[in-house]
Amino acid sequence: MRKQEVSALLIGRFQPFHNGHLEVIRTISKQCDRLIVGIGSAQLSHTFENPFTAGERHLMISRALHDEGMDNFFLVPMVDINRYAIWVAHVASLVPPFQDVYSNNPLTRRLFEEAGYEVRSAPLFDRAVYSGTEIRKRIISGKEWEHLVPKGVAETIHEVHGDQRLKDITKEYSREVTI
Ligand code: ATP
Ligand code: MG
Repeated sequence: MRKQEVSALLIGRFQPFHNGHLEVIRTISKQCDRLIVGIGSAQLSHTFENPFTAGERHLMISRALHDEGMDNFFLVPMVDINRYAIWVAHVASLVPPFQDVYSNNPLTRRLFEEAGYEVRSAPLFDRAVYSGTEIRKRIISGKEWEHLVPKGVAETIHEVHGDQRLKDITKEYSREVTI
């Protein structure tokens, strides 16, 4: 029989996955045998808040974690169900069994705690710049952003022309608003 392994779950939208997320994963992976990363709001893409598809996010995270030398992880896209009362059951139905959940989001913490999971806090790393919103704003305004994300993430965004997509959709939105 296999020894009991501790699996930890981290959920985010990862729009995009950045160095703050990677730092959290470095910390978490010291405290578990297996990491599960839930790619939240998987159905969303092509908006300012959620520019990248679940598949693109899957690719960027897997490249970043492989470059980090990790192999014991699962990346699981999760679509929103918009029913908080059954959200934990939905998540549990999608991923391998897990014991610990890492989140700073009060609602996520509450829902998993109520369901009996061990919920741990993850420290925030240089939040002023390691933030999805900040990185998306930088991409749009043509500022440097590549140094804020792992190499595999920048490569993926360039490959799918995600930087141009973000600029285009933001321009299209502002045009819609002014018309
Ligand atoms: P956005 O600005 O689009 O909300 P984000 O940077 O907050 O992006 P999320 O995908 O929303 O990224 O976050 C997923 C998880 O990663 C959250 O639990 C969040 O607390 C954590 N996280 C985000 N940024 C950092 C950071 N700089 N250091 C540590 N953890 C972070
Ligand atoms: Mg966030």
